[in-house]
Amino acid sequence: GAARGWVPSWSDDDGAARARAVFAAAFGKADPGPGDEPSGDHPGEVDVWAAPGRVNLIGEHTDYNAGLCLPIALPHRTYVALRPRTDSVVRLASAQAPGETWTTTLDDVAPGTVAGWGSYVVGVAWALRGHLVAQGADPAAITGFDAAVDSSVPFGAGLSSSAALECSVAVALDDVAGLGLAATDGGRATLAAASIRAENEIAGAPTGGMDQSASLRAQAGQALLLDCRPGLDPVESAEQVPFDLDAVGLALLVVDTRAEHQLVDGQYAARRATCEDAARTLGLDSLRELADDVATRDDPAGALDVALEKLPDDVARRRVRHVVTEIGRVRDLVALLRDGRPDAVGPLMNASHASLRDDYEVSSVELDVAVDAARVAGALGARMTGGGFGGSAIALVRTDQVEAVADAVRTAFEREGLGAPGFLLATPSAPAERVA
Ligand code: ADP
Ligand code: MG
Repeated sequence: GAARGWVPSWSDDDGAARARAVFAAAFGKADPGPGDEPSGDHPGEVDVWAAPGRVNLIGEHTDYNAGLCLPIALPHRTYVALRPRTDSVVRLASAQAPGETWTTTLDDVAPGTVAGWGSYVVGVAWALRGHLVAQGADPAAITGFDAAVDSSVPFGAGLSSSAALECSVAVALDDVAGLGLAATDGGRATLAAASIRAENEIAGAPTGGMDQSASLRAQAGQALLLDCRPGLDPVESAEQVPFDLDAVGLALLVVDTRAEHQLVDGQYAARRATCEDAARTLGLDSLRELADDVATRDDPAGALDVALEKLPDDVARRRVRHVVTEIGRVRDLVALLRDGRPDAVGPLMNASHASLRDDYEVSSVELDVAVDAARVAGALGARMTGGGFGGSAIALVRTDQVEAVADAVRTAFEREGLGAPGFLLATPSAPAERVA
């Protein structure tokens, strides 16, 4: 249960059973009956796929600066029970949108034609059809479908329930259409690209590509180092980095502040524009070029200061300083993990938070309270994660201190008069796959 704010992940059996139950309620029989053969080919049975939410360890507001980020896949997953149709009708049900069946015809889907949560789902089908056309293949391989969803990924907590939904559908459609893309990392990069197009062009949310890459390409026990330079070969833009916390008696505690702030979209656009203007002023394509240049110098901090002096105002200087130092912190954190020292990454997490709070100005009262309380209670490091202005924070904690740190955060929220937070344990987990 959700005792004291804990948000449990589900076993795949449980998740599959839940998705099938939603399917049965919306569209009729989903499971083989007692006398039926329990075979995957059984006409009454519906297969189930799952895809995880994600949390970013470090590398915030770096993706649109062609930088680096380091997400892991959560054990919390979105489950989709899906049955292809012979026509191009799509019917959708979700436990998170009770009492409503979302319907459209795939042939009508294009940017601007659909709205609501179903747009994340049909957007993926639309993008996969586009991929087939680009390959000179028949787009009709992607048919209509009936699908039912249930999810243990919290909504709007910055843990990417949207990508979990898209990517569960991506692997489902890949499977039922026999495309075989999920079988290779390169194919998964293609599925990620389709999911990103679904979110940007059909759902209309202007996000980077970290979430979908993590959901489709992260591995259990690993963090995914993503290089966001456009034009990189997609296979070469992702690397696995060992992140087995269990083995060293550590856990990653996620605090969902359950706080949403207004003006988030405008703030995001403003940060992006400031970074792009600064790169132009410095004669660069992206701030990544400055980060790479600074990293090769004997005195990186001094080299950064020289570049910052060329910028017109203090706000631009602080924004750029965040991006450049954050890309450096991703590199430093990855080096520690590769060196087998996950227990040593706390100070980098703390520095990331300070930079996001003071230089990039995207933290919030709730995030600062969570981070401070976790550290006081013994966390090795803590930071906000995701875009900011609400959402979630992460804390690296010794396994035997998890409850004490969660208690301390809960108490601090009460003391500050904030609403009760949620808690998750972020064990680095497996990517999107078929589960039943
Ligand atoms: P986040 O991805 O951080 O959780 P977003 O705002 O990007 O937040 O995505 C949340 C939206 O994604 C929801 O408002 C809903 O439209 C859609 N969504 C995600 N998961 C589900 C689900 N299980 N059922 C229905 N809609 C979902
Ligand atoms: Mg999202």
